[in-house]
Amino acid sequence: MSEKRDYYEVLGVDKSASEDEIKKAYKKLARKYHPDLNRDDPKTAEEKFKEVNEAYEVLKDPQKKAQYDRFGHDAFAAGGNARSGGGAGFEGFGGFDFGAGFGGGFEDILNDFFGGRSARKSNGPKRGADLQYDILISFEDAAFGKDTEVEILRTENCSVCHGTGAAPGSKVETCPQCHGSGQINQTARTPFGTITHASPCQKCKGKGTIVNDPCKACHGTGKQNVKRKIKVSIPRGVDNGARLRIGGAGQVGERGGENGDLFIRIYIEDHPIYTRNGTEVIIEVPISFVQAALGDTIQVPTLDGKVDLKIPAGIQSGQILRIRGKGIPSLRGNGRGDEHVKIKVLTPQNLSSKQKDLLKEFGDLSGDKVNPEQTSFLDKLKNMFK
Ligand SMILES: [Zn+2]
Ligand SMILES: [Zn+2]
Repeated sequence: MSEKRDYYEVLGVDKSASEDEIKKAYKKLARKYHPDLNRDDPKTAEEKFKEVNEAYEVLKDPQKKAQYDRFGHDAFAAGGNARSGGGAGFEGFGGFDFGAGFGGGFEDILNDFFGGRSARKSNGPKRGADLQYDILISFEDAAFGKDTEVEILRTENCSVCHGTGAAPGSKVETCPQCHGSGQINQTARTPFGTITHASPCQKCKGKGTIVNDPCKACHGTGKQNVKRKIKVSIPRGVDNGARLRIGGAGQVGERGGENGDLFIRIYIEDHPIYTRNGTEVIIEVPISFVQAALGDTIQVPTLDGKVDLKIPAGIQSGQILRIRGKGIPSLRGNGRGDEHVKIKVLTPQNLSSKQKDLLKEFGDLSGDKVNPEQTSFLDKLKNMFK
């Protein structure tokens, strides 16, 4: 377990930074470390991304920030999502100052010695698990945003016993074995001296309480699975693979711990004619070789409806014309990308004999000098075979 970095350090801001400065720093880093923008090393990016988000969750909230300023990471350790006190079960070191001298390394030694991290305090508040839900949206909804709903199945506290697991009217008793602490201390001799190892109480399974008359609705678990409709506001300009976080909409926390979060991962349906690159929309439009040679004005679909597009005479296949401001709205900011119209010149097929005659006549008139590019190519060819 590595030491948690200071939240101010994570965001690269001063303790005196304003709410605005914190937000700016967060946005910059979130963009930098967004897993979708770091495909070459997604794992590191995701870790950084999480770290940045965690820091921002605290520092954006004046109340949490004040708590953090006073107590550091310990302010949130009880929630279980922070560094949940690897050392919580150890007592009675007799002279060892493990906090300063050994840090995580010493805890690791102890954990090795006892075969695992069983020594965590087990009956404190525990944060609920996060949930992830995938959603498929249309190209247009990704461009302009949409308010929608998802139905999720999540664990909540039982509505009959309110999470206690005890039948209504019955009592929840303090465990006589561990006196409510949820853990049993065992003393062991080690090369470091005599230390006390705490393990979860067997009688109450670490809960610290005993239910004699379990709630019938939840069979004493205190939990129930519930289908919930959750409102999701998809921001305009969202891109494929983006993740939206809905705080507190995940699994219920235990023993007063906060709920987990719900993450909505967004997938965008393929569009029959548009493709997308960031905020740019790309479309391929076929035109006839006559239109290409003589020029024309054609109608082109955009996200805002059809617009007229002037095809300049002599355009080549593959050339791209730009329609400004008809792309995808920017997720962060006010601008919009452009629509890029890639021209595809079609060679005519199935010609009638009259059409063939006309084209032959055209060919006789122009020879091989249809276009300067061709002339230059033929010149190069002649030089090669001299
Ligand atoms: Zn119940
Ligand atoms: Zn117990």
